[in-house]
Amino acid sequence: MRIITQTAMALHCGAVRLNALIRTRPFFKCASFGLRSFADHASSPKVASNAPETSGDHVLYTPEHFALKDSLKKIAEILGGDVSATQQENIIDQEINPYVDQWEAEGKFPAHKIFKILGNAGFLGVNKPVEYGGMGLDYSYSVAVSEELGHIRCGGIPMAIGVQTDMATPALARFGSAELKKEFLLPSILGDKVACLGVSEVGAGSDVSNIKTKAVRKGDDYVINGGKMWTTNGTQADWMCLLANTSDGPPHRNKSLICLPMNLPGVHIARKIDKLGMWSSDTAEVFFEDVRVPCKNVIGQEGMGFTYQMLQFQEERLWAVANIVTTMDVVIRETIHYTRQRKIFSHPVLYHQAVHFRLAELQTEVELLRALLYQATALYIKGNDVTKMASMAKLKAGRLAREVGDGCLQYWGGMGFTSDVLVSRFYRDSRLLSIGGGADEVMLGIICKYMDILPKK
Ligand SMILES: Cc1cc2nc3c(=O)[nH]c(=O)nc-3n(C[C@H](O)[C@H](O)[C@H](O)COP(=O)(O)OP(=O)(O)OC[C@H]3O[C@@H](n4cnc5c(N)ncnc54)[C@H](O)[C@@H]3O)c2cc1C
Repeated sequence: MRIITQTAMALHCGAVRLNALIRTRPFFKCASFGLRSFADHASSPKVASNAPETSGDHVLYTPEHFALKDSLKKIAEILGGDVSATQQENIIDQEINPYVDQWEAEGKFPAHKIFKILGNAGFLGVNKPVEYGGMGLDYSYSVAVSEELGHIRCGGIPMAIGVQTDMATPALARFGSAELKKEFLLPSILGDKVACLGVSEVGAGSDVSNIKTKAVRKGDDYVINGGKMWTTNGTQADWMCLLANTSDGPPHRNKSLICLPMNLPGVHIARKIDKLGMWSSDTAEVFFEDVRVPCKNVIGQEGMGFTYQMLQFQEERLWAVANIVTTMDVVIRETIHYTRQRKIFSHPVLYHQAVHFRLAELQTEVELLRALLYQATALYIKGNDVTKMASMAKLKAGRLAREVGDGCLQYWGGMGFTSDVLVSRFYRDSRLLSIGGGADEVMLGIICKYMDILPKK
């Protein structure tokens, strides 16, 4: 009963914030960027989703989850995402999607502006504590939000949002001091501060234990030297959740997570990295040169950073899977629509058995992945360690996304090779999933460890 009341109150808060926002912002008055292309005729209208859309049919979601997803849909629409049938014509006429296209072309999206919109509506802290601006809901609501963000028509923006909500902030919310949460978590949930996660380095990505960045105690400060690589949101972030070595002890016991303001002297953004995909997300290389940060900025216990980061990875992986499952649905649906209306040898492309059988096979795989995601999420919110299942889901998601991207793109013919359709962007963007946040082989290593079949060193 208490949970239902809490949930209802939290959703009410979110709805109030969202309504206030809608009243004050001319959401759908979007300017034309002149990017209408020959792909317009090829992009599909909304086709019914394959996922259950009401709680009565759903294994995990309650009416509250659907209410939350519905209100977020409006935000996704603003960002150029999927739209309801009634709004669609209007939005396509006014070319709402060019926001995403423009940011993709610019290699960056305005994180502060977008996060403020999401923060005002409550979507940056769905499972975070109410006293720090969150909704205090369980992780299944974050999964629901991530699924909905999969309607945004690029991978870069959802990834950047995921870094803020589910990669840079879970450890802070769980283990940080009240003072730290007030300074970094609260403004991140409200959308006033942009966060980034500094784990990977030039010489250490898969092997996190091998990072070299050092934070050496000098009086009440740490003095930080080293650098981070591949930092999402890195050129725009106000603070970094930094993993650094704080002692010379064994690699799993010598690391700490530290909240590092990015405007401190000695923090240098070396460059914004050019990438194959995820263009609208800025990825930075960052250096630290004698950066002084107070020791009280350490999250939780000094020396526990590696363990906290590994825990943080569980949420990161579930979040990434939820997000891509939706986008795979959208890509398959748009491919069905396109191939149904595109005729070759007097018949729609879709009518060739090789095509509709392949699409059916891909959709079956997506459903299997969704079932694994929901099972892992259901166990996680009951307090279980789901590292094995989350790793399995992440492994499968990365591989399946490559199949969906490649398989669907093929049926678009030359159109699939243009930059004007979602499928080609998905093909590029989704390639990251088998590499970032732990490569496929790292996932396999974790799964083997849990199956007790990993040879001992
Ligand atoms: C666009 C983008 C955004 C990112 N954002 C962030 C971020 O915000 N914060 C952050 O900290 N990091 C971020 N990363 C880094 C990402 O997590 C790493 O790239 C990833 O962990 C892989 O590390 P690496 O690139 O150093 O590859 P390496 O560690 O050099 O691995 C290379 C390859 O080796 C193979 N391999 C790895 N382990 C094994 C094994 N045990 N057995 C066999 N083969 C293996 C894999 O195929 C792997 O791809 C981002 C990366 C990209 C590309």
